[in-house]
Amino acid sequence: MAESDLAPAVVQLQGVRKAYNVGTDFESEVLHGIDLTVRRGEFCAVVGPSGSGKSTLLNIVGLLDRPTSGTVEVCGEPTTLLGDAALTRLRGHSIGFVFQYHHLITAFTALENVMMPLLGAAGRADDSMRIRAEALMASVGLTPWQDHLAGKLSGGQQQRVSVARALVMNPALLLADEPTGNLDTQSAEAVFSLLRSMNAEHGTTVLFVTHNAALAQRCDRTIEVVDGQVTGAHPAPP
Ligand code: ADP
Ligand code: MG
Repeated sequence: MAESDLAPAVVQLQGVRKAYNVGTDFESEVLHGIDLTVRRGEFCAVVGPSGSGKSTLLNIVGLLDRPTSGTVEVCGEPTTLLGDAALTRLRGHSIGFVFQYHHLITAFTALENVMMPLLGAAGRADDSMRIRAEALMASVGLTPWQDHLAGKLSGGQQQRVSVARALVMNPALLLADEPTGNLDTQSAEAVFSLLRSMNAEHGTTVLFVTHNAALAQRCDRTIEVVDGQVTGAHPAPP
């Protein structure tokens, strides 16, 4: 297939290396030159042993951290020369995150948590934000709980709120770092199905870190990280 026939790259890494504690006795390189392209609409599992560098990779793709060397493009935008404010803006508009531990503000309601990124972008709440957040609460099946304090919800419900919050800006890219790692099978299934349906309906590109082989099988593609290198980036078996 010609390059021009392919969907545009949402993530493009070239030669990405990452060392921690640079310039100290504890300096250690954990990513050793990663090349990776993820195209619009792809739903990718990211797999590999603990400590192999999956979270480090996701943090770099998500512009939460910078590589020691190499280049990162997100949504076609080269990021190397961007300052922190520009990175924050690009991240806020283009990228949603879901982590293993939900990072909700437990003293706010579920709906207020979902509205938070909209507030960050616009400065103040308006009705359209509430309507959008309510629609997302409905799509994650939590309308009856939207006015409950986030801290009072179950783990699975809290993670579904996190997914709604990650999607409220309609990001091109959703990064999920072991979002089901802490959940029972049924809640894990609910969160996974939600990500799959967002991908199908909105073309959201998803990177989904998981240790769950059954869920990884149900992604379109598997990116395997071993010892700080991508050792395989292959389509899932049929
Ligand atoms: P994974 O998500 O695959 O378990 P990580 O990306 O979290 O792997 O970690 C990769 C390696 O980098 C590990 O050896 C880990 O101890 C190390 N590491 C991660 N974060 C830091 C940090 N902030 N400072 C120093 N070392 C780190
Ligand atoms: Mg990790």
